[in-house]
Amino acid sequence: MSEQTSQSETYLKPLPQKDALSAPFWDALHAHELKIQRCADCSRYAFPPVSHCPGCLSTQLAWTAVSGKGKVQAAVTVDHAPMPAFKADVPYNVALVDLAEGVRVWTNVIGCAPAEVVCDMPVEAVFEDVTPDHTLLKFRPAR
Ligand SMILES: [Zn+2]
Repeated sequence: MSEQTSQSETYLKPLPQKDALSAPFWDALHAHELKIQRCADCSRYAFPPVSHCPGCLSTQLAWTAVSGKGKVQAAVTVDHAPMPAFKADVPYNVALVDLAEGVRVWTNVIGCAPAEVVCDMPVEAVFEDVTPDHTLLKFRPAR
């Protein structure tokens, strides 16, 4: 065993599993960009990653940089850690954020107390590098 312990070995929360469909999303987050798929045929945005446009079934989906601006649609405060790795985080929130581009993401709003996260609250994307290989999408109150 090496003397160095990687951040991946010490990060104990579940990490996303990148696959062929979602790799561009995770790679963009790692570069601190938010990209989602946009249909070249009907211009609709799609999230989570899909193989066919949910509007017209086209396969012509292009990864497109988006604003990262959105509004909280719903939020709950988690007071009991679902697993030991989350104990230090409680209370924290889990939120649904509607991006300006019309897609909804599950996330956490950080940078404020969980009770301050309310419906219609304007938020903006932030990128949390949790391991050298994993960056997570979170949101904070819009500035
Ligand atoms: Zn389409």
